[in-house]
Amino acid sequence: MPSKVEEHKISRITPTVVDGEGARSWLFIEVETDTGLIGVGEASQNRLDWGVVAQLEALAPLYVGRNPLDLIEDRTRLLRRADAHRILYAACSGLEHALWDLCGQILGVPVYQLLGGSVRDRIRLYANIEVATRSKSPEEYAENASKAVSQGFTAVKFNPFRLSLERNPKPEREVLALAVERVKQVRAAIGPNVDLLLDFSFSQDFHGALKAAEKIEPYDIFWIETPFRIDQASQLAELRHRITTRLSAGEQLWGRTAFLEILEQRALDVLMPDVKWIGGILEAKKVAAMAEVYDVAIAPHNMSGPIATAASVHLAFTCPNFLILEYCWGVTPWRGDLVDGREIVVDGHIPLPTAPGLGVGLNREVMQAHAIRRGG
Ligand SMILES: [Mg+2]
Repeated sequence: MPSKVEEHKISRITPTVVDGEGARSWLFIEVETDTGLIGVGEASQNRLDWGVVAQLEALAPLYVGRNPLDLIEDRTRLLRRADAHRILYAACSGLEHALWDLCGQILGVPVYQLLGGSVRDRIRLYANIEVATRSKSPEEYAENASKAVSQGFTAVKFNPFRLSLERNPKPEREVLALAVERVKQVRAAIGPNVDLLLDFSFSQDFHGALKAAEKIEPYDIFWIETPFRIDQASQLAELRHRITTRLSAGEQLWGRTAFLEILEQRALDVLMPDVKWIGGILEAKKVAAMAEVYDVAIAPHNMSGPIATAASVHLAFTCPNFLILEYCWGVTPWRGDLVDGREIVVDGHIPLPTAPGLGVGLNREVMQAHAIRRGG
């Protein structure tokens, strides 16, 4: 490795789309330097990845030939363009993870130390059991929740309103009764000492959310997430003031400005920025800093693969107002092989990483074995 930090130049950007199974795809990005380093990033789009791949190809000339140590804030200016769109944000997010990874490798320190250093010893995860629960029956939710707890997770999340793919929706009363039954069975399975998080995932209107919040209150819910569209900040604020449970949302917002109205209206208790969509680790940290001013917590949205998870972990270590991190539980048995076993979960927590950069490298052989070709 050259001794002078200015000698590193980006030489190549390679995106790969991987079939993550369970209705998930992962878009991984490798950024190589002419000094032989590889930085990794993730910009996964739930099986809508090819638009981001095309965007990455268009952006490559703005990165190639440049030193990763001098590029992070400078390339963030792309996101301030008046015509910046979600696909540009996703592409720049994945590239930004890789730039941090390269900076850490060049300087020989973990990314969290470049972001201000750690304020805690480990990151608490919650197991999102939604994708792994195929039948959506109360019994299967309860069984998977118990499994996650027996593996050491201290918090679980699911969507009590998830419907099977029926063309004709059930009457509202029946849907709510089923949701309450799912919550009841999961709470009974995990006992009183595990936190239970519920993602309503845009399924409700204002009164539906209010009624549901009242019905599930006896089951000691940690938070209710995204009852309806987040652009309805005043509706969220009103709901928040009328229920006793924490309200969280924000996964689909990109750029720090999008969070301002939510904060000013006191609409949420917890913001959920996603490092692979919001603009990257630093943009998420800036949102966390804005939230801190309003005494609002952050809990990064992370239905992601192992690279965005690592990026979220480094972010979380440096944020005083971090609450808990999402973990996509129980799908893709070879997920750990993608990063050579370097995604370490101990008792439902991720310990402080010690390796330089993000601390996870992609195993190209495993990645290629599950890669999706364009048009495939
Ligand atoms: Mg969600």
